[in-house]
Amino acid sequence: MEPSMAIGVPGVTLSFCDLTMPVIGMGTSSSPPVAPETTKAAIVEAIKAGYRHFDTAFAYRTEQPLGEAIAEALRLGLIKSRDELFITSKLWSSFAEKDLIVPSIRMSLRNLQLDYIDLYLIHWPLKLSQEVRQMPVIREHIFPLDIKSVWEGMEECKNLGLTKAIGVSNFSCKKLEELLSTAKIPPAVNQVEMNPLWQQKKLREFCKVRGIHVSAFSPLGANNTKWGDNRILECDVLEEIAKAKGKTTAQISLRWLYEQGVSSIAKSFNNERMKQNLDIFDWSLTEVESNKISQLPQRKGITFESILGPHDLVLELDAESLDDC
Ligand code: NAP
Repeated sequence: MEPSMAIGVPGVTLSFCDLTMPVIGMGTSSSPPVAPETTKAAIVEAIKAGYRHFDTAFAYRTEQPLGEAIAEALRLGLIKSRDELFITSKLWSSFAEKDLIVPSIRMSLRNLQLDYIDLYLIHWPLKLSQEVRQMPVIREHIFPLDIKSVWEGMEECKNLGLTKAIGVSNFSCKKLEELLSTAKIPPAVNQVEMNPLWQQKKLREFCKVRGIHVSAFSPLGANNTKWGDNRILECDVLEEIAKAKGKTTAQISLRWLYEQGVSSIAKSFNNERMKQNLDIFDWSLTEVESNKISQLPQRKGITFESILGPHDLVLELDAESLDDC
C-alpha cells in the first residue's frame, strides 16, 4: 500500500492504469433512500473528515448530489481541485449494450458535473430491459450479459478519456474468465460483497494472480438496509476482539479487510461513524485475532435472487458466486 491523496488513508495502485485509489471509500447508496440534500450534506461532511474516494452509480440516483457536493467542496476550499478525489460510478444493467455505454457514461458525467470518472464499473453481470422500473422483475426483462461487446464499450470509455480505469462489479471467477478471454484492457477492479462473514477466498486468489484489485461493498454487513442485517456489527467473535482492543466491531471488520489487501466501500452518513470508519490505520490485529476471523462460518448476505426474483439466469449467477467463497 502507498500513501494516497486522501488525508491519512493509504492508497492502492491499480493495474492497467496509472491510478491510486484510497483504500476506504464512502458509499452513497442509502436504504431507505434519503433526500438528495441529505446525501450532498453527508458527502461534504465526509470530505471534511478526510474521505477522498466516493462510490456512486446511475442506479443509486446519487450522482447528482455527489456532483453538487464536489462543487460545494471546491467552493468552500475543502479541496483545491477535483483531481484530489477518486470517483467511482457504474454502468446500469438497462444500458448494458455496446452502443449505449458511451452515452451512459456521458450521462453520469453530466450528473456528476465532471469531465472524467476515475473508475467506471459494469454494475451487474446481466442485462435488464429498459422497461424495468422496480424489483423484482419478470423473467422476460432479464438477459445474459454479452460480456465481449459490453467490455468493448467500456474500453472505448477509457480510450476516450471519459474514465481513467474500468472494472466490474459482482463478477464471479467464471464471468471474469470469460471477460479476460477477449479483453484488450483487463479490468482494474472487481467490486463485490466482502466482509468477515463472506470472505471470498477463491475469488480473491483468482483476482490476485491476474492483477485485479478486489474492493469490498457492504463491509459492515449493510446493517439497517433492505439487503443487509446486523450479522457483522453483532458478531460475537468480532465483538470480543473489539472489546479487547477498545475498538468497534465496524472498525475490526474494516481493519481485517484492509489487512487482506482489499479496499472497502463503507456507507455512513453519520459524522461520528464516518470518522470512526477512517480510524483504522494506526493499529493492527494480532495473528490470533486474524485467525479467529478467518475461521468464521460463511454466509452470503446479498443474492441476486432476493433482488430480482427466482429466475433461472439469476439463480445461475448466485450459484457461481457461492462457488467463489
Ligand atoms: P455497509 O457500508 O456495510 O453498511 C452501511 C450501514 O451501516 C448503514 O446503515 C450505516 O448507517 C451503518 N454504519 C456505517 N458505519 C457504521 C459504524 N461505524 N457503526 C455502526 N453502523 C455503521 O453497507 P452498504 O451500504 O451495502 O455498502 C456500502 C456501499 O457499497 C454502498 O453505499 C454502495 O455505494 C456500495 N454497494 C455496491 C453494491 C454493488 O452491487 N456494487 C452493492 C451494495 C453496496 P449510518 O449511515 O447511519 O451510519
